[in-house]
Amino acid sequence: MTGKRKAVFLDRDGVLNLPLVRDGKPYPPATVTETQIAGDAPSSLLRLKQHGFLLLVVTNQPDVRRGATSPEQVEEIHEFLSSQLPLDGFFVCYHDDPDNCPCRKPKPGLLLQAAALHDIDLPGSYLIGDRWRDIDAGSAAGCRTVLIDYHYHERGAATPPGAIVSSLSEAADWILKQEK
Ligand SMILES: [Mg+2]
Ligand SMILES: [Zn+2]
Repeated sequence: MTGKRKAVFLDRDGVLNLPLVRDGKPYPPATVTETQIAGDAPSSLLRLKQHGFLLLVVTNQPDVRRGATSPEQVEEIHEFLSSQLPLDGFFVCYHDDPDNCPCRKPKPGLLLQAAALHDIDLPGSYLIGDRWRDIDAGSAAGCRTVLIDYHYHERGAATPPGAIVSSLSEAADWILKQEK
């Protein structure tokens, strides 16, 4: 037995809050006012938390690097989400592809940072995301993965997700079933 905790890593946009979709492509909310929490998020997260999972958000926010928003605005959204949902931490990549950082998903850096800080059992943990970058980051970190499929007009993950579902509550159902 190790004392390591299990986590559910949660992508933010399209998982905790609704994506803003234009031309089949999802966009993050720019402000708290635009941030609409998914209706099934509070109950789904509570079920996962009651099972003993740490709930850690891992999110790419490249609009900061692109100058479309600021870290302060992103943090304001995170304070809002924290006030409404039982989350245990946020891990954010503010970079874009040319920065070649180790944290922008599909790289596993955010999950590895979180795992080091919270002493996480990665193979016993899960990632829930709505895009290929999330799924590939979760797989690269050695976690099991669940895709909430909104049928965006974009490529699929290089590694197939463990499950494909249509909502956060279905993702929680699948994870809790694996734990039985
Ligand atoms: Mg997303
Ligand atoms: Zn980064």
